[in-house]
Amino acid sequence: MGTARKQDEDGLYAITGEARAVALFRLVLAFMAVVMLAFVLVEGWRIWRDYRHAYSNAENMVTNLARAIGQHAEDAIRQVNAITAALAERLEGDGFDHLDRPRLQALLAQQKQIMPQLHGLFVYGPDGSWIVTDQASIPPDANNADRDYFAYHRTHTERAVRIGTVVRSRSSGDLIIPISRRLDNPDGSFAGVLLGTIKVDWFVRYYGDFKIDERGALVLAMRDGTILVRRPFVEPVIGRSLANSEVFRNHLPFASEGLAEAVAVVDGTPRLYAYQALSTYPLVVEAGLSQESIIAPWRHDVIKSVAVLLILLVGLAAFGWAVLRQLRERIAIERALHQAHQTLKTLALTDSLTGLGNRRRLDAVFETELKRARRQGYPVALVMFDLDYFKRYNDRYGHPAGDQCLRRFAEVLQQSLKRPADLAVRYGGEEFTLLLPGTHLQGAEQMVEEILLLLRRQMMAHADSPLGRVTASAGIAVGHPARDASTSESLMAAADGALYEAKRLGRDGYTVAAPLLAITG
Ligand code: GH3
Ligand code: MG
Ligand code: MG
Repeated sequence: MGTARKQDEDGLYAITGEARAVALFRLVLAFMAVVMLAFVLVEGWRIWRDYRHAYSNAENMVTNLARAIGQHAEDAIRQVNAITAALAERLEGDGFDHLDRPRLQALLAQQKQIMPQLHGLFVYGPDGSWIVTDQASIPPDANNADRDYFAYHRTHTERAVRIGTVVRSRSSGDLIIPISRRLDNPDGSFAGVLLGTIKVDWFVRYYGDFKIDERGALVLAMRDGTILVRRPFVEPVIGRSLANSEVFRNHLPFASEGLAEAVAVVDGTPRLYAYQALSTYPLVVEAGLSQESIIAPWRHDVIKSVAVLLILLVGLAAFGWAVLRQLRERIAIERALHQAHQTLKTLALTDSLTGLGNRRRLDAVFETELKRARRQGYPVALVMFDLDYFKRYNDRYGHPAGDQCLRRFAEVLQQSLKRPADLAVRYGGEEFTLLLPGTHLQGAEQMVEEILLLLRRQMMAHADSPLGRVTASAGIAVGHPARDASTSESLMAAADGALYEAKRLGRDGYTVAAPLLAITG
């Protein structure tokens, strides 16, 4: 009972001091951790989201670019296709024998005027000789029988236009893309070739107008991978093959348009590409943005925000550290205070000579014990001891010997305590008190007899006592707080009275105080 209560009191004290500081310390620590984690998570999420944005924007951009240049190439070629179809129809209808060359030349020149992409329009005879062009004069002995497209049409009867790889024009020296078709005689035999040429420069200028950084790439290529036009434009690249590129090898065979991340075959730059195979012509366009240009602004932003975050975290950590240090100091102070308080409390309640509790210790628990006994309906026994003829003992053996004697008696008392709630105190001088909660008269008498016996057995000689050795007298009072008028004062007075009676009866014995008046009503 007593021990448990003691812990309660200490616990209560600790909660108001050290424990509260420790709780605050943990709270601050947890708060700091949560705040820092929240900062990192929010910032991390934002960085990730910005990365996704940068990429999806780039994907949209390359897709739009690929569509634009694809449409542009298709339009440019479709117009040449249309015009050469009309011209072929007319040439074949009129027959080659009665050609009005000046009129035809004027028509070709006019068509060239209308279509800015057009570099030239040419009609070749079955032997490759120039029959008529958009130019007023034809170079003597000009012959294109050696050209790729010419050889092709001579041996292939199909009537569709053919797009050739880039060649250098014999008439102007420009790089051109030949768009050619076969001309037939009425009997189906080979009558020559009709050729429309598109300036590579037409595409180069168009591609140059797009606002992409210098590491971006725009490509127009044949379906077999041969490059026709490219931005950035470097002449040696024209005619190179992309057949082994990521897009041509791993994407085009499966989907006619899409996105691909790849390292460029031409310049080794890693890019995000959008590609598209044109539906009407065997051409492919690609638009690519360098990974670097996609990531760079994002990375710049990341560096800035991570720096700000770090500064924030460091600041927060420093602040937290300062607060925690203060708290730790406070905890140390609280702990020291608590210990000092405990020591003082123990000192204040302890008798320095015997190590038993003192009168204050008794006062501190007496009322509580009485209340508890009243609530729970059990008795409380109070015993007062007083050593016999102790003045004489001091006088004879000296004060130090007297002190030793008091210590011995204290030991006897301490040894005979049976329950945790039993309390022995030195009340003052050579007077000692036992508080025995929950002990009936019988139990108290038994204990007192045992103590007096034990004391006698100590065989401490006392020559000036009629009893020959150190003895004590005791007075017992038992209260039943639940049913009588027991108070600490009344019990003390009763025990004291009984002690006086024991002295009167010859000492080395005890008497029991008369029961207290019962509470009536
Ligand atoms: P009685 O049998 O009637 O109790 O006689 P007594 O001499 O014991 O009674 P009294 O109360 O007159 O004497 C008490 C003595 O106890 C007085 C004092 O010398 C002694 N005493 C009180 N406190 C101490 C102490 O701390 N140390 C020592 N050595 N003696 C003490
Ligand atoms: Mg006395
Ligand atoms: Mg005495």
